[in-house]
Amino acid sequence: MSTAIALFTSDLRIHDQPVLRAALDAADRVVPLFVLDDGVLGSRFCAPNRAAFLADCLEDLDASLRARGGRLVVRRGDPVDTAVRLAAETGATAVHLAAGVSGHAQRREDRLRRALGDLLHIHDAVVTVVAAGAVTPAGRDHFAVFTPYLRRWEQQPRRDPAPTPRRVPVPDGVQGERMAEVRALLASAAAGDPSPALPRGGETEGRRRREAWLGAPLDAYQDRHDDLAGDATSRLSPYLHFGCLSPTELVRDAEAAPGPGAAAFVRQLAWRDFHHQVLAARPAAARLDYRPRGDRWAADEQELAAWREGRTGYPVVDAGMRQLAHEGWMHNRARLLTASFLVKTLYGDWRAGAAHFLRLLVDGDLANNQLNWQWVAGTGTDTRPNRVLNPLVQARRFDPRGDYVRRWVPELASVEGPAVHRPWRLDPQRRAELDYPEPLVDLEEGTRRFRQGRGLS
Ligand code: FAD
Repeated sequence: MSTAIALFTSDLRIHDQPVLRAALDAADRVVPLFVLDDGVLGSRFCAPNRAAFLADCLEDLDASLRARGGRLVVRRGDPVDTAVRLAAETGATAVHLAAGVSGHAQRREDRLRRALGDLLHIHDAVVTVVAAGAVTPAGRDHFAVFTPYLRRWEQQPRRDPAPTPRRVPVPDGVQGERMAEVRALLASAAAGDPSPALPRGGETEGRRRREAWLGAPLDAYQDRHDDLAGDATSRLSPYLHFGCLSPTELVRDAEAAPGPGAAAFVRQLAWRDFHHQVLAARPAAARLDYRPRGDRWAADEQELAAWREGRTGYPVVDAGMRQLAHEGWMHNRARLLTASFLVKTLYGDWRAGAAHFLRLLVDGDLANNQLNWQWVAGTGTDTRPNRVLNPLVQARRFDPRGDYVRRWVPELASVEGPAVHRPWRLDPQRRAELDYPEPLVDLEEGTRRFRQGRGLS
């Protein structure tokens, strides 16, 4: 009886799961393994929201495997040592793993390759639709501009989804942590409570949301995805981050849907692949400027704290930051304008903003978060690096009635209409009653700070 190990990482699903499929095809029995990485537990990557969501994902994956006669084996330790030890223990003749993009994932793959040699099989296009590095411009190892990348990305043939296993035979006697212990371990390592309105994790919930999203017409997505109050985006990002959903399956299904809304949705998924291929080629971009601009970041700690707490005095910025704290998720337009406010108005280092987002976002993802932050900061792949998003213009365009602000900033809930975006214009007595802060900085002054710091004026 031959045995293979399917080492799960950011691919916590059984549908369109090439790693599990390949392990099942290669051997009589499979050990589905997830390692609670000691290097991640207790680090900034083990934040309360993602730890709670991960516990849901692992429980759900275990239940799906049990329904097929198997189970998930969860162990704690170093992933490489754990996989190598388990291979020796079970006499496994193969270890299957999805290719990752971060420096951490690449180092893990290198160590596994050294330890396992030919036993290791790494599968591309599991975490992304198009494998990082599969399309490159002439003479370069990755695309630095989105539009030409998109053209090539669209032309790539989509792989067929891997068939969902009916049975997963697991060898007897392989020890692992109990699921209740896994949840407790994650909760204690995360140190802190999850956000009150965190979505439930796991493939089952992800697929339910996916069916609801694809089952409704996508027509409005193109026109409404920037509408802050309309909440007209898929909210599938955490399920994609943990791999509860296959991006390939999602893109194939969306590409089959007619209309500009579906095409716009597919384009957003191409952005995800784009950032992944940048990080795979430049893992240091998680912490270093991709394109240094000589910035001398200037925001002080008090300003950073006001931004984090949603007390900047700019209602649309504060609404975004409070949505993040409450849901562990923020609308993309709000991510753009809150990030721009930090880096281009307060002139705060993008790393401080990215770290705060990573601490709270349930979809917090090194590739998407750090490279979107760099895009907004103008140190990344934006071809217009010095543009500044004025929060009042953003508010007028994307929250024209002020509903988003009233939803998230209760102090301003009684202010009607778009006047909610400029509380400083209300009469002084009304303003005093609202208990809402004065603007932290004058917008023009803030922009001057950024332009001077960057040596633009
Ligand atoms: P939809 O509009 O329904 O889009 C579908 C999917 O496309 C998303 O789930 C996501 O996987 C992908 N996508 C959409 N926009 C982008 C984008 N700009 N870049 C990369 N992928 C995209 N996304 C993350 O998944 N994790 C992060 O940590 C993250 N941090 C961000 C930080 C900043 C400063 C900014 C500006 C954006 C960030 N994004 C991040 C991208 C984007 O905001 C979210 O993916 C999106 O808001 C998720 O909501 P949704 O699933 O409803 O998106």
